[in-house]
Formats: sequence, structure tokens, C-alpha cells
Amino acid sequence: MCQNPNEHKLNPSHFEGSTEEKQTAQEVEGGFAAYTQGMKFFDPHVHMTSRTTDDYQALADAGVVAIIEPAFWLGQPRTGLASFKDYFASLVGWERFRSSQFGIKHYCTIGLNSREANNEALAEEVMEILPLFLQKEGVVGVGEIGFDDQTAAEEKYYRAQLELAKEMGLPVQVHTPHRDKKKGTERSMAIALEHGLAPHMVVIDHNNEETVKSVLDQGFYAAFTIYPFTKMGNERMVEIVKQYGSERIMVNSAADWGISDPLAIPKTAALMKIKGISDADIQKVTYQNALDSFAQSGQINEKDFIDGLEIDQSLKFNGNTVLRGGQAPRIDKNSIFIR
Ligand SMILES: [Zn+2]
Repeated sequence: MCQNPNEHKLNPSHFEGSTEEKQTAQEVEGGFAAYTQGMKFFDPHVHMTSRTTDDYQALADAGVVAIIEPAFWLGQPRTGLASFKDYFASLVGWERFRSSQFGIKHYCTIGLNSREANNEALAEEVMEILPLFLQKEGVVGVGEIGFDDQTAAEEKYYRAQLELAKEMGLPVQVHTPHRDKKKGTERSMAIALEHGLAPHMVVIDHNNEETVKSVLDQGFYAAFTIYPFTKMGNERMVEIVKQYGSERIMVNSAADWGISDPLAIPKTAALMKIKGISDADIQKVTYQNALDSFAQSGQINEKDFIDGLEIDQSLKFNGNTVLRGGQAPRIDKNSIFIR
């Protein structure tokens, strides 16, 4: 069904840029790095546990200096508390180490994901261990939490975790549902306000053209996940920044075990540059706003990563390394020798 082309900003399912813009986007396919030289990026939502070391290397090469890995579901239900414990421990342990081996600063958010809130017996047990993990170094928020199917159990544990975030003075990373998104997003914000959370402590994630205005108007941070092929393409993201500016808006990849693109942020930055968005605005939506919102946890010090981490692949984590038999560790990234 055709929609009024003059109302393209209200239409979430099509990119309606000018012919010229579409042409430009076609011509630059595959060459994003030429447009992002010298830029640094902060991806506030990426599930690196499910990605490879090649992805880490590609992120580092593309200028991603820091990331946040939200706790989420595994793609299949967990069967016991121990599985949650080990997963949370890996987010502050092995995965952080793995990231450091590629020069990327790794933070995480910890929470009971919305799907598994529906297993109430298990959810009760998870709630008990959350405070312990939320106090760990480098944990920058409660997340990702919120609604999936918008059930009563999801609401119960969303509310309980908002209280926890408030008590601990941590930002909240809110996953909004893919089905019935507008209603779910409004409900998520209303409940957060009802629990007395300051909007600037809440990052509402997975926004689109339908939700962004209300999220910004109410003072929350608005995060956008760039998914390949479906949902939110980066051409639409450019249009959103043109319309709403860069205040409290941030882009993420939410790359996970499904078809997704960990390089979504640098690619979107390149497209913004091509389409005339200022460097200052690009920096805000691909780096600064993510930093500012989650630094409210008191757990992020920009000095730790702004000039790059020192890479020392001779280090080990519990006796384990990212190297395989006989490989030489990379220690100085400026070394002339490539072995
Ligand atoms: Zn996620």
C-alpha cells in the first residue's frame, strides 16, 4: 500500500530519501572506513559472547574503543540458576578479558531478561544474585530488562529491577518489545517514572520513528539498534538524526547470535558523514551520548580507553588465552614485525 510521500518521516518501513541520496548510498557500499578515519566509537549494546575474535578485530580496526554487553537470553531457555551465574560471571570475566586482547574496553549491564522473567520460580532465584553482580567493577547498569510479550510476570520483574537500579544508583537499559512496540515503549517509560527513576538514568532501546519523539520529549535517552535487512536500517537512522538532532540519541549494533552487524556504528557514522551530518552530531550519537548516559554509573573512566588500550596478548585469564598453540602474542600494536 502506498503512503503519502510527504509523510515519509512517519513511515517506519521505508527509506524515502531523495533519488540523489539513494544513489550516494549505493555508490559507497562497502567502503565505510574511508569516511570514518580518526573517528572513535562506543557501542552501548553488543552481545560479544556470541561473536568471534574476527569481529573483535574488525571492531578495533573500525575505531570502536569501548563497548557495553548487556545480559540477555541465550536463544534457548536456561534451566537453572547456575547457568545465569556462570553467564554473569563470564560477562565480567572472560569476555572482558577477550575484548581487552583486541584493545577494546568492555563493560556490561546485568539483569534478568524479559523472556526469562516468565519462568517465575527461576526469576525469583535470579533476583537474589543480581545485587552481587551489579556491584562488580565495570558493571554500568541494570539491563537489558523490560517487556517481550508484555506479560504480568515480565512487568513484575521489570518493576523489581527498576527498584534495584534506583537503590544502587545505576542506569537502566530497557529492551522494548518488537511486537506492539509503541504500546510497550510507552508502558516501559510510564512504569519507570512511576518508580521514581529520573528519565536521564534510563536508556530506552530499540526505538524507531514511531517511538522516538515521545521518548525524547519525556527526557529519556533514545537508543537505536541498526539491524541489517529488517527493522531499522541506517538510512532511516540518518533521517532520524536529521529530524531530531543528536541530543540524547545513540546508535548501537545489538549484534548477537542472529544475523546482525557488529560494524553497524562505524557504517552508520560513514553514512551520516556522506549525507552531511556534522562531525559533532556524529560524535554524539556514535560515542558521547552512550558514554554520558552509562558513565552515570560511576564505573566508566574515558581515560581508560580514549587513547586505546595497551594490548598484551601474553596475558592470561585463569590460565586461558585467546591464542592457539604456537601463535605469537601481539604485544605492541605499533611493532613493525608481523608474525
Ligand atoms: Zn540485546
